[in-house]
Amino acid sequence: MDFRFTAGQEAFRQDVRGFLKQELPADWIGADNAIDEDAFEFGRTFLKRLAPKRWIAPAWPAEYGGLGLSLWEQVVFNEEMAYHRAPVINTPAVGYLGPTIMMYGDDAQKQQHLDGITSGEVQWCQGYSEPGSGSDLASLQTRATRDGDDYIINGQKIWTSQAHYADWIFLLARTDPEAPKHRGISYFLVDMKSPGISVRPLISMSGQHGFNEVFFDNVRVPRSGLLGEENRGWYMATTTLDFERSSVSTSAGMRRNLEELTSYAKETRTNGHLLFDEPPVRHRLADLWIDLHVVRFLAYRVVTMQERGLVPNHEASIIKVFNSEYNQRLSRAGINLLGLHGQLRPDSPYARLRGRFERSYQSSVGSTIAAGTSEIQRNIIAQRGLGLARG
Ligand SMILES: Cc1cc2nc3c(=O)[nH]c(=O)nc-3n(C[C@H](O)[C@H](O)[C@H](O)COP(=O)(O)OP(=O)(O)OC[C@H]3O[C@@H](n4cnc5c(N)ncnc54)[C@H](O)[C@@H]3O)c2cc1C
Repeated sequence: MDFRFTAGQEAFRQDVRGFLKQELPADWIGADNAIDEDAFEFGRTFLKRLAPKRWIAPAWPAEYGGLGLSLWEQVVFNEEMAYHRAPVINTPAVGYLGPTIMMYGDDAQKQQHLDGITSGEVQWCQGYSEPGSGSDLASLQTRATRDGDDYIINGQKIWTSQAHYADWIFLLARTDPEAPKHRGISYFLVDMKSPGISVRPLISMSGQHGFNEVFFDNVRVPRSGLLGEENRGWYMATTTLDFERSSVSTSAGMRRNLEELTSYAKETRTNGHLLFDEPPVRHRLADLWIDLHVVRFLAYRVVTMQERGLVPNHEASIIKVFNSEYNQRLSRAGINLLGLHGQLRPDSPYARLRGRFERSYQSSVGSTIAAGTSEIQRNIIAQRGLGLARG
């Protein structure tokens, strides 16, 4: 098996790299996952720079604002974006809602929504989780009741990332409370400006405002807001989740962090010797380097499946568990190797590596929870990968 990219793909990589060098400030250190207002505004402007090149979703078909590039070119693109820490906003729309609309939406929905995503004009958020329904998502209680040609939505969502910036939300609501729980759910596309929607901030453990509670009080949604068939929403939602979990861009961003940590260990003296000369440090970095290759090749495997038109399922769970747990191991190693300085925030003059590991140490806690916890992923792998009975 040859893992090298073709000459054409490498040329595309150089194009993307050149663009990023030109568009990102020279001292750019990346924006945090939990997006603050300035970072969000910069991200929005950056999307507008990507849009004319059709680089917001380069692998989408040309008719929906992409370039119809191959998935491997998309991988090259994602790797460069992640390595250069380019602003990432609207991921739910580009990464998983868009492909779900392409699969299940009617022509009018494709027309209405896909262009808004690839032009960078319309931001989306994902309204799945509820206070009592996270891992057991199918138990969700938000109700959508038919009223003539419309639906009326009542209920609450929680942990809704970036709802405070979003123009639209894709959400799940119960349309048939009598049906078995997976069969009474529908998938809706809802304008966040609809009367009756209110958003309340939730501040994360790292002190940032990334997610929210979203309340629906008699929110009227036209029938055109129903994606696919009524009561079939669960099956579309799991497609969205499979796209979400199989995200293939993260290894390059983590590689950059590992490279910087390794350089730090090579350059930093402690007790009269270089940090890198301590065998436990060398071995820890080597272990992280080994695992980084696993992250990358798991991602490539998922891409080969997507290339064949398959939607990865337990394979997506494998990569989700490994990536997110690796992210935590790497962040922990960073915090440990930087010593007490590692715990300082980016704005401290004494912070090392610009406070990157303090940030990632805190934000990586959520990575094994978001998009389904590691326990849930392991259940999926046990059941669908190993064929074990449901636990
Ligand atoms: C950073 C971040 C961003 C998020 N963004 C969004 C978003 O934009 N939109 C959205 O809808 N949601 C979002 N979420 C919510 C996320 O999807 C849920 O937190 C997640 O699905 C877990 O649900 P829960 O929090 O209700 O935990 P629970 O389901 O209550 O789980 C609690 C604990 O019990 C364990 N557990 C539960 N069931 C089982 C089982 N059957 N077997 C073994 N262990 C089990 C879990 O693994 C966990 O450790 C986000 C979460 C985070 C951390």
